[in-house]
Amino acid sequence: MITYQHWIIVIILTAGMVSRIWAGTPGDDTILIAKWQGDKRAAVSLTFDDAQDSQRDIVVPEMNRRGMLGTFYLITGFVDGSRFLPKYIGDDVFALRASARRSATTPANVRVRATAIRFLGKMVPDPMQGPIARAFESGDLQRASRLVDAVYTYVDSLEQVDGPAGGVGTTFYYSPAAHSGKRNNTWVDWRRINNDGHEIGSHGVSHQWMSMMSMEMAEYELGRSHDELLREIPGQRIFTYRYPYASDKLECDSIAKQYYAAGANPVRFIGDPPAEVPQQNLQEQVKSSAAYCIPFGEKDADGYWKPERDRSGRSSTYPTRSSRLTTMQRWVDDTISDGAWLVPVFHGIETDGLNPVPRKTFVGWLDYLQQRRSEIWIAPYGTVQRYSRERLAATVEIQENGAERMQLVLKDGLDNAIYHEPLTLLVAIRAGWEFPRVTQGRRVLPVESVLKGEDYFWKFNAYPDQGVIVIKSGL
Ligand SMILES: [Zn+2]
Repeated sequence: MITYQHWIIVIILTAGMVSRIWAGTPGDDTILIAKWQGDKRAAVSLTFDDAQDSQRDIVVPEMNRRGMLGTFYLITGFVDGSRFLPKYIGDDVFALRASARRSATTPANVRVRATAIRFLGKMVPDPMQGPIARAFESGDLQRASRLVDAVYTYVDSLEQVDGPAGGVGTTFYYSPAAHSGKRNNTWVDWRRINNDGHEIGSHGVSHQWMSMMSMEMAEYELGRSHDELLREIPGQRIFTYRYPYASDKLECDSIAKQYYAAGANPVRFIGDPPAEVPQQNLQEQVKSSAAYCIPFGEKDADGYWKPERDRSGRSSTYPTRSSRLTTMQRWVDDTISDGAWLVPVFHGIETDGLNPVPRKTFVGWLDYLQQRRSEIWIAPYGTVQRYSRERLAATVEIQENGAERMQLVLKDGLDNAIYHEPLTLLVAIRAGWEFPRVTQGRRVLPVESVLKGEDYFWKFNAYPDQGVIVIKSGL
């Protein structure tokens, strides 16, 4: 518990002090910043990848009906009406193919050749491409080279059977097996979904493995998908990027951070997190977050979540057609008891997308979330990310602490154009005070009294860096 002198004392509240149950005896000037908005016990961000039609047709109406907001990661080049389409940026593909016939791939040229794989003129199935990406991620360029050779040989062999490859270097070949279904959603749909309050984020222009790409290609995938979103979804200030296939590459951070504030991989910060957020606090956020992986079950020695394995033994990072409702309900239960942040990754529902979750399961799960709503904060990924960063950077200064009036300044030092989520403050109820009136500038902040452990607090949402907060006794 914190004690400090009255008047102009700056305190920094960190998560350790925001235990779910307040165990100490709060003094007159105890102020807490709730871990999750509304002082809910846990947070859940529902995220949806790949811009599937069923997201528009099933997910959005079902969530809207329950007053829930989610995050949709669009493959922008696949949305009807996009300006930036899948495109190869790099050396001439005919020349690459000719040189691959003459000489084996080496670590020196493996990235150039790998970048062109989806533009070689024939479709290369995902299962041939994934291992190349993973080899890059593990730094095994010899292995990546051998696998790339196998791809080029495979494409040549197809050509002998089917005839010459058409559109080499210009046509994009996307394996339909993994992300099946033709889409008919348009920017009109996504603007409307955004207007309903849902977050729109980027999943690249054409859903490629980042670890395989050249920097030029990564610039196109991350940058032009961002440009497209800015143009098509006006008024959005921040976008997060979800790495297709969860494929990541540190070298691309410099590109990523030009365009995005957060990556929606296992609680991944793109580039440098805001300098105002202390490092140890970041670590705290990572540990409290079950983001991306749908974890549950185990944490590793450092307190990080480990993904649960599905029945086939593969890592299950998203709900699938075979996910059981009871299992998905347990994810929620575990998240609540851990005070964590759950970020399930859905694709399509029922009809389309990668391993679609049946409608019945999805709707049943929404109903379960609704049942436990008093304990969970359901908000888009970017909203929770902003809240969390603000909280970790926040300070509260008590400027005045009188018998019937208290004056606070809440600051986070972050860019207010992006970081504008209100933080939930809990102020220990003061003896002899009437139910208070709380204002911040011209805003009247709704306040309620809540019991934590054996003590009562006044709870209200206040805006960092938006002026002095005045709490006065009496309504
Ligand atoms: Zn995807």
